[in-house]
Amino acid sequence: SSQPTHLTGDSAAINEFIDKFDVFLFDCDGVLWSGDHLFEGVPETLELLRSRGKRVVFVTNNSTKSREDYQKKLDKMGIASSVEDIFGSAYSSAIYISRIMKLPAPRNKVFVLGEAGIEAELRTENVPCIGGTDPALRRDMTPEDFAGLADGSMLDPDVGVVLAGLDLHINYLKLSVAFQYLQKGAKFLATNTDSTLPNSHAFFPGAGSISIPLVNMTGQQPLALGKPSQAMMDAIEGKFQLDRARTCMVGDRLNTDIQFGVEGKLGGTLAVLTGVSKKADWEAADAPAVPAYYVDKLSDLRAAQQ
Ligand code: PLP
Ligand code: CA
Repeated sequence: SSQPTHLTGDSAAINEFIDKFDVFLFDCDGVLWSGDHLFEGVPETLELLRSRGKRVVFVTNNSTKSREDYQKKLDKMGIASSVEDIFGSAYSSAIYISRIMKLPAPRNKVFVLGEAGIEAELRTENVPCIGGTDPALRRDMTPEDFAGLADGSMLDPDVGVVLAGLDLHINYLKLSVAFQYLQKGAKFLATNTDSTLPNSHAFFPGAGSISIPLVNMTGQQPLALGKPSQAMMDAIEGKFQLDRARTCMVGDRLNTDIQFGVEGKLGGTLAVLTGVSKKADWEAADAPAVPAYYVDKLSDLRAAQQ
């Protein structure tokens, strides 16, 4: 497919780009910041878009934080936002479970592989959950566990969903419990399936590394609720009444952000080269998606002001 337009320094071209859209969906890590390092000129760039009447929405695959946690992080970074401007994969999963699956009680409990962000978002949607950060599961598996899982006495009969996100305390016991629920017919969901997680200029296991062992055990794929899943796009469209043709996805990763925007048939996609993907990645024959535009860094859009 055709190669992206490089937006750099030409204010007329950048203004034309901005005028095409009413809503900008922003990936966070790799675009706004890297870990705890805010990229130069980012708050000013977002304010420039807002001053032109654009809606800015933050769309992150990071399920370890709730929207409220994210709002605090944005605030700390000097980026104004409200919880209503944030859409994370933990929230996306919670609203899918509560508003789309609508599991009838009592089999509406969720067994969580993941961190507090998932638990917090499930709570805001009144979805009961177990597992997650429960310290009782942070231990080695014993012979009693094998027996109690095999005869079901250790299992909660109300669990109807296994939801896998990034779990920093994953272990054999948690995987065994999740596998038992899936064998009993629980629905298999994942907040996101990112293969890797960039941190401190190196790559670490991503959320997909938690669900993939379960894929191997069950032969089933989870329904993923983060980018590039279109279940997330549909939820965003419903919440923000998106006109897809007037919406642009901004991100650093081809196989999550850019693929999300291309498959969602958005009016545009903008790749930012401060994160995971590089120019050579979309020039490759097997590129997962090719952006419509790219910038070297987000603040290059500020040239629109000149
Ligand atoms: N998942 C986790 C646990 C993360 O910490 C991050 C980045 O900080 C991501 C996913 C990727 O987030 P984003 O979609 O904002 O790039
Ligand atoms: Ca990113």
